[in-house]
Amino acid sequence: MSNLIDSHVNFGHDLLKNDVKRIYEESLNEGIERMLCINSNLLNFQKDFELVKNHKFIDMSVGHHPNSTGEIESSEIPKFIEKYIKDSDNKIVGIGETGLDYHYQVPRIKQIECFELHLELASKYHLPIIVHMRDAEEDMIDILSKYRAKLSNILIHCFTGSQKFANQCIEMDCYYSLSGIITFKNADILRNVIKTLPLNRIIFETDSPYLTPDPFRGKTNEPKYLKTIIEKYSKIMSTDLDNIKKESTSNYKKLFQIF
Ligand SMILES: [Zn+2]
Repeated sequence: MSNLIDSHVNFGHDLLKNDVKRIYEESLNEGIERMLCINSNLLNFQKDFELVKNHKFIDMSVGHHPNSTGEIESSEIPKFIEKYIKDSDNKIVGIGETGLDYHYQVPRIKQIECFELHLELASKYHLPIIVHMRDAEEDMIDILSKYRAKLSNILIHCFTGSQKFANQCIEMDCYYSLSGIITFKNADILRNVIKTLPLNRIIFETDSPYLTPDPFRGKTNEPKYLKTIIEKYSKIMSTDLDNIKKESTSNYKKLFQIF
């Protein structure tokens, strides 16, 4: 039995922040060997770090989500990120989450400026970039293509793109993390697209406390629901479950350089 890894947990969220110790212990008991605590607002990094710093098997990211672009001056972003990388005792394994989200009315120029600063830092520190993309496929591909050669690796988190987007990501040799969305009843198109993504680039996430998989929708999402997502993927792909567990765990370690 292989151990699993949840590559996207928002431990700093109000619904989880008081339960980090319980979730950590339960997860380890249930066969989840690592988790990645996602920082999505640089102003909250210290708080997120305090929550997880003593938990050996929780990795961390550092980054500013496109929906929060307005909360910080762009010029402050590199200062914050570089300070946190220095101060965090090697716990930071990736830059993000960052990216583009055109679903809400956050000014696009500002989002792009913020995203490109993250890409520069990912390149400078040889860290993978953890990308959030919603309703912004064309600009995303344009920007990633421009930076591809300078980057170590790209992770498209919570992959929900079109087939065209998937094809372009495959050309750039991206990694993909699949969430509870692949279990949703109305996600047939997505299920067809993910069949075309290479298994050696697939990892999994719960995005806790959001996106609780079927049939647990309505409950607060936690890493314990990760196996529901992986089982669904195994059915979609008609591929042996143990093989997928082993492969996705080794993909995570390759991507984030965990030895
Ligand atoms: Zn996201």
